[in-house]
Amino acid sequence: MSIRIENLTIHESARLLEGKKISSVELCKAYLERAKNLEPKVKAFLKLNEEEILSQAQASDRRRAESKKLSPYDGIPVAVKDNITVKGQTCTCASKILQKVVSPYDATVIRKLKGKGFVLFGRTNMDEFAMGSSCENSAYQKTANPWNVGCVPGGSSGGSAASVAAGEVTAALGSDTGGSIRQPASLCGVVGFKPTYGRISRYGLIAFASSLDQIGPITRDVEDAAILTDVMYGRDSKDATSLPDTNEKFSEGLDSLKDLKGIKIGLPKECFEIEGLDTGVRKSMEKSIEVFKSLGAEMVQVSLPHSKYAVATYYVIATAEASANLARFDGIRYGNRVKADSLLETYLETRGAGFGDEVKRRIILGTFVLSSGYYDAYYTKGQKVRTLIRRDFQEAYKKCDVILTPVSPTTAFKFGEKSDPLQMYLADIFTISTNLAGNCGISVPADIHANGLPVGLQLVGPDMGEKQLLRISHIFEKNRAIKEFIPGI
Ligand code: GLN
Repeated sequence: MSIRIENLTIHESARLLEGKKISSVELCKAYLERAKNLEPKVKAFLKLNEEEILSQAQASDRRRAESKKLSPYDGIPVAVKDNITVKGQTCTCASKILQKVVSPYDATVIRKLKGKGFVLFGRTNMDEFAMGSSCENSAYQKTANPWNVGCVPGGSSGGSAASVAAGEVTAALGSDTGGSIRQPASLCGVVGFKPTYGRISRYGLIAFASSLDQIGPITRDVEDAAILTDVMYGRDSKDATSLPDTNEKFSEGLDSLKDLKGIKIGLPKECFEIEGLDTGVRKSMEKSIEVFKSLGAEMVQVSLPHSKYAVATYYVIATAEASANLARFDGIRYGNRVKADSLLETYLETRGAGFGDEVKRRIILGTFVLSSGYYDAYYTKGQKVRTLIRRDFQEAYKKCDVILTPVSPTTAFKFGEKSDPLQMYLADIFTISTNLAGNCGISVPADIHANGLPVGLQLVGPDMGEKQLLRISHIFEKNRAIKEFIPGI
């Protein structure tokens, strides 16, 4: 088998499997072998069970041999972020408090992936309870960026992004509350897609901030992101916030735009004015804008005047929701119990020992903004500003089809570089407002920085605007100067 697995996509794997050029067992063994060599350095996976993976691959090969394949993707491996439940497996959210909890059910996305025959390939590292932008908040290990192992992979879905970038698996699932799919994808040179809030069921995703959380794919290219979205999206009676089915197939007609004539790309002036935007990242955006222009797109200036409040608003709303969502991890209902003399002490000891510093910081902040004396001053105000942010986007879409921004103000940073939480929070300055607005957004590798690290470009589209967003991303991907983003690990 002389296939370069480090560059293999879902759509190419489907063709190889169909043409019997490779079997699922061969494919999974090749990834396991690569992971064996690279994991000591990358540490993307919290769990990688060879036996479990190969038994799923064998079952897939049997189905194909009996002409009973479940879909063209039967036998293709996908890694899963450790906050999405798979029946019979631990789901730790990279937290000590959930170290031993075994999921009694499959998340809806997992049920759907299994239904199409995908092989579930290990569980990926993350910031504890998805709180962070570097994976340094995991209670278990620090994942490294495959482009430079002295740098972080981004977060919170850093394990998923690093595993795909390192070629240890074909694709992975992440979750995005304020940028956790798009930011690590950008820092690792892969595609990360956050669909519109509610497109994909959150049933089985351990909640961080329920009004912002969204599951999405991290992949090698836009077509793969579309394929996984096709498999996962749709109304789910188990998630009251899930949107109705629209019977779209995002992976079909991706090539239908031959150029971008008639397409308007919005450039929010505030985004390009912010302090802390790295000059190399700015240059990469300028180069990308030239690609869009050469394809015939019209660049229009738009304004998102309230975006300067996005990070502050997010840290009110997300922490408020997190403090309520994480109340269930008390050692009685869920989580490792630390035995103590009284009920109150049991709660205190359990939560004191089980949660890491960042999670505690957020619970305290969230409890504060929800407390009776401060509720109106912070939480109610935050919700009002959120509405203004959403309206800014709606106004902008009157002038453009999609909005272009950087994903992250810098490329991947060094471990320990952002030890001040406020500095870390600013890593999501470009991604957070998409979640507050509920819109869809994608991170597509755009360029390589002079420092050798990848730079991602973000495109944001209106609610339910995935089809157009993916098509525009796809044509950009085909026409950007750098064709392949493969780290030299
Ligand atoms: N980095 C942001 C945070 O720490 C976003 C995280 C996310 O999207 N899950 O909250």
